Amino acid sequence: MTATHHERQDPAIAHPQMEQLLQFQRDALEMITLDRPTIEILNSLCLLAEAMVDNSVASIMLLDQSRSHLEVRAAPSIPHEAIEALNGLQPGPDAGSCGTAVFKREPVFVNNILTDVRWARFMDVAKRFNMQACWSMPIKVADDDVVGSFALTSFQTRPPDPFHRRLLDTGSYLAGIVLERDRQAQRLLTAGIAFEHMREGVMVTDARHRIVQVNQAFERITGYRAEEAIGETPRLLNSGHQGAEFYRDFYQSLGQRGEWLGEIWNRRKNGDVYPQWLSVKAVRGPDGSACQHVSVFADITDTKDSERKLWQMAHHDALSDLPNRLLLNARLEHAVQRAHRTETSIAVMFIDLDRFKNINDTLGHQVGDELLQEVARRLRSSVKEDDTVARLGGDEFVVVTEGIIDANSARLIAERIIERLSVPVTIRGKTLFATASIGISLYPQDATAPDTLLQHADAAMYQAKALGRNRLAFYAPELTHAIQQRLDMEHDLRRGLVNHEFLLHYQPQFDAKDGRLVAVEALLRWQHPKRGMVPPNEFIPVAEETGMITELGAWVTETACTQAKVWRDAGHCDFILAVNLSPYQLRTDCTTRLKEIFRQSGFPAEFFEFEVTETLLVGDDGSSLQQLADMRTELGLRITMDDFGTGHSSLSQLKLLPIGKLKIDRSFINDLPDDQNDAAIVKAIILMAHTLGLEVVAEGVETEAQQRFLCNSQCDHLQGFLHGRPMPAEAISDLLGRGQMRLERLCDTK
Ligand code: C2E
Ligand code: MG
Ligand code: MG
Repeated sequence: MTATHHERQDPAIAHPQMEQLLQFQRDALEMITLDRPTIEILNSLCLLAEAMVDNSVASIMLLDQSRSHLEVRAAPSIPHEAIEALNGLQPGPDAGSCGTAVFKREPVFVNNILTDVRWARFMDVAKRFNMQACWSMPIKVADDDVVGSFALTSFQTRPPDPFHRRLLDTGSYLAGIVLERDRQAQRLLTAGIAFEHMREGVMVTDARHRIVQVNQAFERITGYRAEEAIGETPRLLNSGHQGAEFYRDFYQSLGQRGEWLGEIWNRRKNGDVYPQWLSVKAVRGPDGSACQHVSVFADITDTKDSERKLWQMAHHDALSDLPNRLLLNARLEHAVQRAHRTETSIAVMFIDLDRFKNINDTLGHQVGDELLQEVARRLRSSVKEDDTVARLGGDEFVVVTEGIIDANSARLIAERIIERLSVPVTIRGKTLFATASIGISLYPQDATAPDTLLQHADAAMYQAKALGRNRLAFYAPELTHAIQQRLDMEHDLRRGLVNHEFLLHYQPQFDAKDGRLVAVEALLRWQHPKRGMVPPNEFIPVAEETGMITELGAWVTETACTQAKVWRDAGHCDFILAVNLSPYQLRTDCTTRLKEIFRQSGFPAEFFEFEVTETLLVGDDGSSLQQLADMRTELGLRITMDDFGTGHSSLSQLKLLPIGKLKIDRSFINDLPDDQNDAAIVKAIILMAHTLGLEVVAEGVETEAQQRFLCNSQCDHLQGFLHGRPMPAEAISDLLGRGQMRLERLCDTK
């Protein structure tokens, strides 16, 4: 409804006519106030208008839902056939009077239909019903939206006079009011349906904070029926979980910003306390004060549940369901704080199963997993409800007991654990004995910081292992000495790499039949500035634990390839370069780096061999093996199983590995040929390896007798001090220069 519809009183309109117009408006508004049906009011508007203009009929056309066609809604004096002919009129620039008025959003006065182009298409209808003039006024509702037209059709040609114009104006204005009323009602209805059916609970309170309206979701979530809630204050839903401070903030935010949004705990009628997301908004009255508050809330119990699950997952070990390292750290920190306040003691126990690796390796991971689960249960049942039992990973567990009296009470608990664990477990028909070694540190005697307590307990656990396993050991300060040494070593290793303290020695391998030099193995040496030559067995484990092995291993490969390329360039082309590969290197992507090394050094990958040990299989989820297999197929390098016989892999398992050669561990060679057992084992290994299509190398060959035995047993290659110790690169160059060395001596042993 725009201002154009309320033009100020036109001086050209005579008094009696003005009276008529006012009467017209009064009648119409009365019907609206009495809430008469729309169609009835629209028909009355037409009849009242016709009564004021002789020789004419009135009509109201409205746009249909699609807003593309006009339908006659009220035309009480127009014959049915004429209505039918006009129905479906499409608004446009030449669509008669009404179609044009709606299209142009302005009044259209056609004074002579027969001569007006806008009526050209409707001449038939006009003639049939003697329509001579037609004045049409667009009907607008709120937002200036045109929804239809109000028209007067005359049976004579004439232009509208000011009264006619005012009448059309008033008629369309009144029709607009009626139609707007309908639209509002429809909106309210829709809003009401939405209100009732939305998933969120809604509660409306008045200025006195009394509940005046709630929806179905409110009833469902809170458990209160509308009639129980209405008239009450929202305190009805209070859980008591929020303190005075919360409500202070709440009301402050509502007062200042007119809204509050957040999480709140409420209580259902049945007493359950539940979390909800709540949004409260103030509805301001004309004077700006809050006359109502509308609260919309969602029950987020489910969300909370999944949050809890996520939390559980992040803080617990999936296998045993015990707290993980993360949660252990948090708990230990709290325990220390409490113990500090209450001046009590804590015992931290580091528990490691004895020879768990054996079980895993020989009986498989599933049995290992089930054993760990049983251990977790036994640990839990050995301590108080509120003590912490955590799993750090592998077979490592930690128990934290608070409020212990002295070292002896800690000892009793640890002994109970050892006792419970030592009861045999039957898993998949196998009876297993899971003994454990326990290291104990005490707060505040041994340390006050959580980290240090754990480190001390760990050190004590190693002590217990060293003392023969299946026992407990208390932390003793001397233990830290060993740990300090390790830390020093780690630091030295890093420095060593930077300072070029590492070098390679090479040990040759010979063909057992013709004595040809068939391979050289690169062996890492560390020239420590203070300690002198450090053997690899001392520093490689530290490099593995600290991750330094990745860097170190790459350095070895690169250096060895570069050196071996020099030998090739000197004309020695048919030897293999062997390099030891730590399983830790396979846990990272080392293939990319390797490709780069081959590319840069120019050493051909098919003459390169990695020596791996069976420990590779321990704890591998398959990805290490896959990488190894990919290296072989993609790069074409060779793989040898080193130290064969010391681990737990059987010959049949070897079929699964991408290897081409076996290296029998030195410990089997050592006592040859006198030790009957070793002799039998070595013969069997060689025989079966050949059956599997694998070559066999013997390492640690020190005596002629060992060599003779191995040659007779069809061992393919020999490596050992007898024919060549690990030596600097220059010495190998000499050796290669000499060609097929010791051919005769090897041969005549046959
Ligand atoms: P390994 O791969 O089994 O190497 C053979 C070891 O046996 C070498 O010890 C070698 O000096 C020694 N050996 C060779 N022949 C004889 C013999 O006739 N009698 C005796 N008693 N010993 C012999 P080394 O150089 O001390 O290396 C020890 C281990 O350290 C190696 O065992 C290997 O596992 C590891 N290692 C050495 N270099 C590297 C490396 O670059 N990377 C990795 N990951 N490990 C390496
Ligand atoms: Mg080796
Ligand atoms: Mg070896």
